[in-house]
Parts: sequence; C-alpha cells; structure tokens
Amino acid sequence: MLSRYWKYDLQQLAKNPRKSWTESELDLLLDAFNKEDIYPAFNIEFNLENVTSLLEISWCRQCGRCCIPDPNKPNDCGIMVHEDELKQIGLVTGRSYKELLRKTTKDKTSGRKRFRLIRYPCMFHSDAGCTVYERRPTICCTYPITTDIKSDGISFIKINIRCEYGRDIYKALHERMVQQD
Ligand code: SF4
Ligand code: SF4
Repeated sequence: MLSRYWKYDLQQLAKNPRKSWTESELDLLLDAFNKEDIYPAFNIEFNLENVTSLLEISWCRQCGRCCIPDPNKPNDCGIMVHEDELKQIGLVTGRSYKELLRKTTKDKTSGRKRFRLIRYPCMFHSDAGCTVYERRPTICCTYPITTDIKSDGISFIKINIRCEYGRDIYKALHERMVQQD
C-alpha cells in the first residue's frame, strides 16, 4: 500500500520494518495520508471504552479546524448529526427544529437513516469556539476518531490525522504496533 506514496518519496517505508521508521518519516507519511484524504484504519472496535481510552492519549488544541472546510477535502459534505441531536441543539439555541432542518441537508452518503449534514463551516462555530459545546453532535465528541463498518457489521476505528491531536493518537498506535511486531 505504501508503494502508492512514491510521489512523496516514501517508498522506503514499504521495504523497511515499522520499527526502523524515523519520526520525520512518520510525519511525512501522515502528511501524505492527509493530502490523499486517507483516514488510517485500525483493527480496534469502535466502542465507548476504546474511543475514550484513545482520546485520553492526547488532547484537543481547540483550534477549531474540524469545524471549518478542509482544503484537502473539497468534496467533504459536512458534519453528520442525528435528528435527535439536532432537536437538542434546537432547544439550547432557541432555533426551531424546522429551521435547523432547513439549514442542514439529508445525509445521502453514509446510508445511515435519520442523519443529516451540517455544511462547513459549521453554523455553530465561532471565534470563541463551539457555541453548542455541551450538545455538540457525537461525531464532534469523538473527533479525531471516526468509524467505518466492516462487512461483518463490526465497526472499527479510523483516525483523522488532520490535526495534532489525531496525529498524536496515530503515533501512539504506531508505537503499539512496533512493540507487537
Ligand atoms: S479535534 Fe483537532 S481539529 Fe478539532 S479543535 Fe481539536 S485539535 Fe483542532
Ligand atoms: S457542532 Fe461545534 S464542535 Fe461540532 S463542528 Fe460545529 S462548531 Fe465544531
């Protein structure tokens, strides 16, 4: 898979064992993932316990980059929010559910029912941070950890390495793999 990264001059990583990778090679690999819009996946089940322990590896820098468009992902259609979460946001912001429905779009990409998309930049983002922090969508609470579902129905973890928080988590998991090799 790493041979795809010839253009980033990372072909040596495909040949060398993980434990020999240098910190700067690892950083270049993460930059390449980011540019190629790849969320590295791990064979770790996406559940509360695993997500909580991974999030504790590092900390959110509160930069707000996950709330605005990512120049590397022009086709990213938005922040996934469940209809019930949207209703809760409506209660704390004083906006009607009808208005929030109008300002969001139906999530046709994930195939998940009763989910909608908040377009970037998120309408709840402000210079001071998230204006609905206590009621923010689950996806915002688990960011930079996200998930996908295997063919057997089990969900697994993917890391968004766009920010330092995600990169720290990826590096910690990389280190675990080095120890297990
Ligand atoms: S999760 Fe990452 S991108 Fe989002 S605010 Fe925190 S550090 Fe920034
Ligand atoms: S709801 Fe809050 S944390 Fe989530 S994308 Fe919007 S501003 Fe960011």
